[in-house]
Amino acid sequence: MPILWLEEVDRNDLPIVGGKAANLGELIRIGLPVPDGFVVDAKSFKDFIERVGLKEKIYPILNSLDVEKTDELNKASEKIREMIERSEMPKEIEIEIREAYRKLGNVYVAVRSSATAEDLPEASFAGQQETYLNVFGEDEVVEKVKKCWASLFTPRAIYYRVQHNFKHENVSIAVVVQKMINSEKSGVMFTSHPVTGEKKCLIEAVFGLGEAIVSGSVTPDTYVYDRMKRKIEEVKVGEKKFMLTRKDGKTVKVDLGSEKVNQRVLSDEEILKLVELGEVIEEHYGKPQDVEWAVENGQIYIVQSRPVTTIKEEKKEVEEVEGKVLLKGLGASPGIAFGRVKVVFGLNDLSKVENGDILVTTMTTPDMVPAMKRASAIVTDEGGMTCHAAIVSRELGVPAVVGTKNATKVLKDGVVVTVDGSRGIIYSGKVEEKEEERFEIYPQIVTATEVKVNLSVPDAAEKVAKETNADGVGLFRIEHMILGLDKHPMKFIKDGEVEKYIELLYREMKKVVKAFYPKPVWIRTLDAPTDEFRTMIGGEEEPIEPNPMLGYRGIRRDLIEVEHLKAQFRAVKKLVDEGFTNIGLMIPLVISADEVRKAKDVAREVGLDLGKIKFGIMVETPAAALIIEDLIEEGIDFVSIGSNDLTQYTLAVDRNNQLIAHLYDERHPAVMKLIERVIKICKEKKVETSICGQAGSYPDVVAKLVEMGIDSVSANPDAVRKIREVVAKVEKKLILEKVRGFR
Ligand code: PEP
Ligand code: MG
Repeated sequence: MPILWLEEVDRNDLPIVGGKAANLGELIRIGLPVPDGFVVDAKSFKDFIERVGLKEKIYPILNSLDVEKTDELNKASEKIREMIERSEMPKEIEIEIREAYRKLGNVYVAVRSSATAEDLPEASFAGQQETYLNVFGEDEVVEKVKKCWASLFTPRAIYYRVQHNFKHENVSIAVVVQKMINSEKSGVMFTSHPVTGEKKCLIEAVFGLGEAIVSGSVTPDTYVYDRMKRKIEEVKVGEKKFMLTRKDGKTVKVDLGSEKVNQRVLSDEEILKLVELGEVIEEHYGKPQDVEWAVENGQIYIVQSRPVTTIKEEKKEVEEVEGKVLLKGLGASPGIAFGRVKVVFGLNDLSKVENGDILVTTMTTPDMVPAMKRASAIVTDEGGMTCHAAIVSRELGVPAVVGTKNATKVLKDGVVVTVDGSRGIIYSGKVEEKEEERFEIYPQIVTATEVKVNLSVPDAAEKVAKETNADGVGLFRIEHMILGLDKHPMKFIKDGEVEKYIELLYREMKKVVKAFYPKPVWIRTLDAPTDEFRTMIGGEEEPIEPNPMLGYRGIRRDLIEVEHLKAQFRAVKKLVDEGFTNIGLMIPLVISADEVRKAKDVAREVGLDLGKIKFGIMVETPAAALIIEDLIEEGIDFVSIGSNDLTQYTLAVDRNNQLIAHLYDERHPAVMKLIERVIKICKEKKVETSICGQAGSYPDVVAKLVEMGIDSVSANPDAVRKIREVVAKVEKKLILEKVRGFR
């Protein structure tokens, strides 16, 4: 079936429909307003090149190409794209596309590529995201689908794959055909702040089509909504010189009259509605999202959603020494840098940008990327948080300030300035950095029950350790850091690169155990359902499972792919050998004593001395809770209750399924009974107990657990302070009751 309707697909279909279509399908499933459409699957492309004999022509050209020779690269790219565009599509595919288009109602559509590798970080400027707007008529749709296929071979896409060791033969592309929204207004929304990660929703809006934002040619309105305080915090009206709109099937530029140029695009009410949709999306994906939206006839549509991959931890502050503020704009990429200004008005000026210079321009273009790499910071006149300069500089890790309006006029060639990419400020001269941290340290309340913190981003460890002053890490989820590697763990192993993989794990783990030393850090071995690995290189080999939540994950997987378990244990061993013994090793999704025994055997096999560290298990299944005595018999130092999974498995409620989310309840008596049983038996057997699921951040649940005698609770970083207060209060109450003879 080359054609799938968007409402039929979800994230499990990613390998065949690509990231964009899978996301749109997910959004439809959770009830969001998404324009109708269908997807031509990735198999169709492969089918096409095979059947028309292009496979034998394309790959030999690519495989003998030296991509560093720009001329050769351009010629090869042009040749391949021409071959694709000229070849006839197999009839069955064409017929299905035509039929589906007719079903859509012969309307204007947007045709976009949906690359199967698109969700990889860095890929957003790899040129794999061709978009054709205002496409009308069957013939044109068929032609544009071919053009999207061809876009897999733009010079940038080819170069990117070679640089990242992707095999050309392995990549494919799907194509989304979707009803065009004739936007009166449109824009982007980051559900959390894209630079700092704070729970602040940032919306950019323009009149007409949103493409004006991405190209950076229009400075959008910017609205900031504080999701903690539940209020609109900032409204910045941008200068929108023109809008892009559809006229007679063409995208045209319409100058906005003097009245509309500085007119506010969204009302407060529209902002609140958007935030509401954004929160639903973020909750669904469990991660901050970068959402594209549009308004037609007063109705908001969600056009796309992607995870935000650019949130950075910011540690340094600037102290104004000699610097005077020269200019302000939007802080689009964090970091502080100083250097000599080089104003670039056209491509001919690019060569004057040397290593360490500050590149100042109206708006960057893809051709400027090499110069952007050389620059120590980037400043633009135009653009918002999602313009080219902002996206690329965040991905390059170069500080940037965009939308300053007149940097190219104010900043003069050769002058030294300092750019603060977090706050959006340009200072004159060199401004010193102050090594001070930007958070408050609260006076520590001492509790008998330890209050620990959950962590998944190693680079945040130092900040979290200082900011929360937690008694250790009760759960270090390594999934996040593994998903951040450039390929699937088993691919490292299959490629004979296990030592490299161990080194990467060790380095990231060390950031956490070092930041908290000598407080304990409980490292959990990998537990990510197969669907979450699929976008990684090598992830295409992940099995497709009917229900990944009940499937190939956690310790059951690692005992089959035992080389991977060994690699994790060897990384821990390196830390122990270095003297970091503040470690607890924790295995997830346990259901039998056999699993505990086997995992310990593997640890011993790689020479990991379990006498030097602690060894424990997650209690996440009713099975583990009901046979806890047998698990203790195997020799464990601690258990940590994973209430997220324990709830889903006890109540038969898939935690990812929105349809039954109302039934998901960690406080259900059945769940609480299992937890109580575990704590009681562990206390008798002198095994340490803790909780690290979401319920460990709920004050009412924590109060009950402290009464049950739990030894520690592990909360999310933002909840540690509150939970510590709750724990202290309950402990005081218990002491008083004891003194007064109630207990
Ligand atoms: C849990 O299941 O409660 C838990 C902490 O693990 P995760 O949320 O990573 O599945
Ligand atoms: Mg779990």
